[in-house]
Amino acid sequence: MMPALDFLVPAVYFAAAVMFIYGLKGMSSPVTARSGMIWAGVAMLLAVLVTFFHPKVEGNYLLMIIALVSASAVAWWWARIVAMTDMPQMIALYNGMGGGSAAAIAAVELLKLHSGQVQMVPTTLLVACFGAIIGSIAFSGSMVAYAKLQGWMRKSWRFPGQQAFNLLVFAATIGLGVWIFIDGPTPTLLLLFFMASLLAGILLTVPIGGADMPVVISLYNALTGLAVGFKGYVLEIPALMIAGIVVGAAGTVLTQLMAKAMNRSLTNVLFAGFGKADEDAAAGAASGEMRAIDATDAAIQMAYAEKVIIVPGYGLAVAQAQHKIWELTELLTSRGVKVTFAIHPVAGRMPGHMNVLLAEAGVPYDLIYDLEDINAQFPTTDVALVIGANDVVNPAARKDSSSPIFGMPILDVDRSRNCIVVKRGKGTGFSGIENLLFFEDNTRMLYGDAQKVAQALIAGIKSLG
Ligand code: NDP
Repeated sequence: MMPALDFLVPAVYFAAAVMFIYGLKGMSSPVTARSGMIWAGVAMLLAVLVTFFHPKVEGNYLLMIIALVSASAVAWWWARIVAMTDMPQMIALYNGMGGGSAAAIAAVELLKLHSGQVQMVPTTLLVACFGAIIGSIAFSGSMVAYAKLQGWMRKSWRFPGQQAFNLLVFAATIGLGVWIFIDGPTPTLLLLFFMASLLAGILLTVPIGGADMPVVISLYNALTGLAVGFKGYVLEIPALMIAGIVVGAAGTVLTQLMAKAMNRSLTNVLFAGFGKADEDAAAGAASGEMRAIDATDAAIQMAYAEKVIIVPGYGLAVAQAQHKIWELTELLTSRGVKVTFAIHPVAGRMPGHMNVLLAEAGVPYDLIYDLEDINAQFPTTDVALVIGANDVVNPAARKDSSSPIFGMPILDVDRSRNCIVVKRGKGTGFSGIENLLFFEDNTRMLYGDAQKVAQALIAGIKSLG
């Protein structure tokens, strides 16, 4: 490296790392999230640009430019057209790409070691093997998660002796890794090693279904970060190490938070799953009948209420009803009704999904409450309006110990005086299980597309004068 670059490259990497962390901090609040994204984006741009001056990339400029331009163009185009409801799939795919890249780098480095182009001390070889396993699992697992979220695959897939078979494949993966560590890599050994690692990721993910998916996606995000961090160590690039560790740590915290939000341990998510229960419980233990209400009556109930809590869910996102819901809120507020919003941590199809939608519609942050802050308020609430939410308000989580979601914290809308549920028909939620709420005495079903129903509620309230 030229003397000036000796200083420039690490200094810019360091600045980028500080900016990453600052950006990440910004993302912890909806108010500063946008600027946090910009800080992190600029940091990434700086890190990429300065990499052109890194001694290890000498001679590879054309390849780098082709990769950067084509990947940026695809990502730019896709991010612009993707529907908000398809965002989790996109995240799963991008996570997977990170893990896959880390695994591919490991493959190249291990092949170089085989042909004598590079030397590795035992620690580096160990880290390279670990990174290869973790990156491959994150890649193939994320692809399966993508296929499931896209509806291309069954939500869960099980066969007899699955756990034992999975354990065998995992043991074989580790065994091959140890073999490479002791005897050094050969192309055949590497092929078997990567095939086993990829298979382990697929097998780990196929039985996981239902509402556990957010935890799995977040876990693969953490694994990708870890794999990238390991590659940074192998390639001796501190920026990669820092970026990987930051993603790995953030992903781990998010995984823990999501698992806690669903009252599930990670082991339980990975090795028990909702899989079998999805199919078994689909018929559900619910009895009784669902009672319908029309928009005019629902509008009257809400217009003369003192306190209304709105609970948005995935259906709100599908219907893009957030603007209408905000209009409805303003209308009710102008009549003196106290309206607030309750958001479950896994409502929608990605963390923060509902917060993003409500922010887009201009709902002030101080009207939005998290589960633990609002649950105590339901018993004194006149109307809980559940709009496109299902799993996150299912009282089976509290009442039915045989339910696959038993123990998951839910929004206690069934404890409010009246509950109005807006959905199109009798469709189940993401976990595929029946909702006991719909059969409660104080629940009324308001059937229809969330946006059209919101419009009808607005019209109904306006007609009251
Ligand atoms: P659910 O997926 O449980 O339920 C959504 C409901 O919306 C359905 O019952 C559906 O019923 C209704 N719906 C669909 N389209 C419309 C529409 N156009 N208008 C009105 N209603 C509509 O949503 P929740 O938000 O309650 O729960 C999220 C689930 O997704 C949880 O199980 C969670 O674990 C999982 N998940 C969460 C992720 C995250 O990170 N947040 C990621 C991946 C999964 P109908 O068909 O009858 O209209």
